[in-house]
Amino acid sequence: MNEAHRPPSGLLARQPLHFILGAGQRRQFPDDSGAEVAFVGRSNAGKSSAINVLTGQRSLARTSKRPGRTQQINFFQVGTSERRIVDLPGYGYARVPERVRLAWRPLIEGYLLNRQCLRGLVVLVDSRRGLTPGDELILDWCLEAGLPAHVLLTKCDKLSKSAAASVLLGLRKALADHPSITAQSFSSPKRIGLEQASRVIEDWLA
Ligand code: GDP
Repeated sequence: MNEAHRPPSGLLARQPLHFILGAGQRRQFPDDSGAEVAFVGRSNAGKSSAINVLTGQRSLARTSKRPGRTQQINFFQVGTSERRIVDLPGYGYARVPERVRLAWRPLIEGYLLNRQCLRGLVVLVDSRRGLTPGDELILDWCLEAGLPAHVLLTKCDKLSKSAAASVLLGLRKALADHPSITAQSFSSPKRIGLEQASRVIEDWLA
């Protein structure tokens, strides 16, 4: 069957997700076994909304968004399987205190570069902003780690169809030398791009 017409297996939407733990340090991570897909993005890019809509949960992201809070990586188990969805703390929020901002980099870099069970990273990018320096740093780490990444250009409902298509085209051109990084348009409230994104994540977790 043509890849584009393959129906999503629905694994994510069918299985309940259970919060396992929040880790502020590497030694607190769950065992490095099974398969994980992680989500990351600039604060307010739409990460929590995307995780909720992709997993069919109403408010999965328990992460506190208060900027002064110690940042944690939150791990969720998919059903009873050894598959996990991982919610990485957001970046780029101007009012984050220095000590929190400084803790972000070693935590995320340590996770992305060393986690053997990590199959792919979903990077949330606001369609209206395009790639920020933080997003570029993350994508560089993915290339360094040989980790596939899939960019969701969020809030595409806030742009005209042609503007959203041109943002996507521009990003794909910029990433043309890096086939391990793919991209698509996405809207959580309008559920645009939901099937395509689910398929990428479910293939990684399979
Ligand atoms: P996070 O900080 O990256 O987790 O971002 P949130 O998911 O909390 O979203 C930030 C704000 O953007 C909230 O007000 C959401 O309702 C809104 N939002 C998120 N995704 C979309 C989207 O695809 N379209 C629109 N129009 N609003 C969105």
